[in-house]
Amino acid sequence: MSLPLGHAALGLTAYDLTSNADEVSVFRQWKVLAVVVMLSNLPDIDVIFGLLYSGNGELFHRGPTHSLLFACFIGVLYAICSRIWRSLPPISFFQSFLLIGSHLFADYIFTDGPLSLFWPFELSMSAGFESWGDIVHSIIFEATNDIAVIMSCATVVIMRRVFRLDQVFSLRPVFVRKTNAKK
Ligand SMILES: [Zn+2]
Repeated sequence: MSLPLGHAALGLTAYDLTSNADEVSVFRQWKVLAVVVMLSNLPDIDVIFGLLYSGNGELFHRGPTHSLLFACFIGVLYAICSRIWRSLPPISFFQSFLLIGSHLFADYIFTDGPLSLFWPFELSMSAGFESWGDIVHSIIFEATNDIAVIMSCATVVIMRRVFRLDQVFSLRPVFVRKTNAKK
């Protein structure tokens, strides 16, 4: 699993689980949605670099952009940028780190090749060759590989919504009254 849709699904789930349950859903905020999808796929920008540099998407793949240091760097960079440009959605350092981290987690768990998690102390670039055509083909025709991940993520997000039904059926006030009564 290493395709944009799967990474986006994991990123959206990570963001949803770490955002305030009372906030408007990420799916109703297009700017947040765009930034979350972009950050959760950002490590694979090394594929674009390789394609532009030599026509080989694997040339720099799984290098420095697939490291914990990169996740920290992007977390700090986004925090600074969102303070300068107030129109950017306020995503915390922790959430930015988590979005990049969700990408690293998925690549680590669902793919075979090593990552450069502890770059600059280790560097594990992909071997092989992938052209523009190979990459476009895999994005379009191998997306079905991500269906299980997307369905699992959707289940987690929906379950969270279901548990918010406590507000609809006023279960939360009952719970609060009970805990207050004990005091
Ligand atoms: Zn990747």
